[in-house]
Amino acid sequence: MKRAFALPLLLVFLLTGCSGRTSAGQAAGTEQTPSPEQSSAAQPVTGTVFAMDTVMELTIYGGEDLLSAARERIEELESKLSVTEESSEIYGVNHSGGGTLSADTADLLSRALDLCGRTNGALDLSIYPVVRAWGFTTGEYRVPGRGELEKLLAHVDYTRIDLDEASGRVSLADSMEIDLGSVAKGYTGDQVIALLREHGVTSALLNLGGNVQALGGKPDGSPWRIAVRDPFGDGYVGILEVVDQAVITSGGYERYFVEDGQTYWHIIDPAAGAPVRNGLVSVTIVGESGLVCDGLSTALFVMGLEDAAAFWQQSDDFEAVLVTEDGQIHITEGLEDVFSLPDQGSGLEGVTVIRRG
Ligand code: ADP
Ligand code: MG
Repeated sequence: MKRAFALPLLLVFLLTGCSGRTSAGQAAGTEQTPSPEQSSAAQPVTGTVFAMDTVMELTIYGGEDLLSAARERIEELESKLSVTEESSEIYGVNHSGGGTLSADTADLLSRALDLCGRTNGALDLSIYPVVRAWGFTTGEYRVPGRGELEKLLAHVDYTRIDLDEASGRVSLADSMEIDLGSVAKGYTGDQVIALLREHGVTSALLNLGGNVQALGGKPDGSPWRIAVRDPFGDGYVGILEVVDQAVITSGGYERYFVEDGQTYWHIIDPAAGAPVRNGLVSVTIVGESGLVCDGLSTALFVMGLEDAAAFWQQSDDFEAVLVTEDGQIHITEGLEDVFSLPDQGSGLEGVTVIRRG
């Protein structure tokens, strides 16, 4: 018997501490073309966008027009990056072995390929045929046979995605397909934040389906408080205080199915062609770049605790919270002062701090 779950749960939820005094509609009428001074208005405009297969919540201290601009930017990126929309650039490339990409898509692909190399293939943008074989693209879940997976894995190798960034020309070796699902939301968050910044916004919070990205701090200058979801329940394992950073989680509980008592989730080990099972249940990455955090949340999940810790020790652009199957929380040392447990009184008791040396 097969049971299927596809839980559209937000993996990180927000503890904003603001009281939501005003509706987005009220703020809307008051600010048409915000100048930099006006845009850190006391009341935020808030809006929801359904895109990239998830619910996105935008909170912007600025005018309603900025909400529309953000929404348009998200929709524009989705229409280029979608792996399923027939009119998208990625769909076109996947179905004709190559093509010419717009500047956005070429930029994302180029930087995402760098992450594939940096993680030694733990992140592999060509994993899509395997993701599809397990049913994660449609929800018709199944456990593919070894032979089937081996055939598909012959076409999984990000080093055979050939991109000329200047011209945007990309070509794929035969039967390869690209999926930017592991990085698209992080890149989109970066783009929306850049757009808001250009318009003088100094405070905003984006929750793109559990990918949280902060522009500045709260309007009073204090940090945003972002809860890291408990992979085992509805609560949270801790709170992170951030300013100008992304907090991005990959969790096994997000999309999974159970067959014959085994849980299979949507994060695939490209070496095995199967869902990762290495003792981790969630990986949260904190850093300046949404794209990097998004790619690394997937990649460090694939690496497992030990390799992820070693990878962090050689890096200087992110911090991490890793939760294991037995409920242990590990944080990298840069988070020591900004991570707190739900029980305020207990300090960081029970949390393991990963250090550099
Ligand atoms: P989500 O998008 O659900 O927040 P992730 O950012 O971790 O989670 O991305 C997971 C998605 O990335 C999967 O649904 C799948 O399409 C794709 N994926 C799974 N494993 C890998 C991998 N090792 N490398 C690149 N992409 C992957
Ligand atoms: Mg990711």
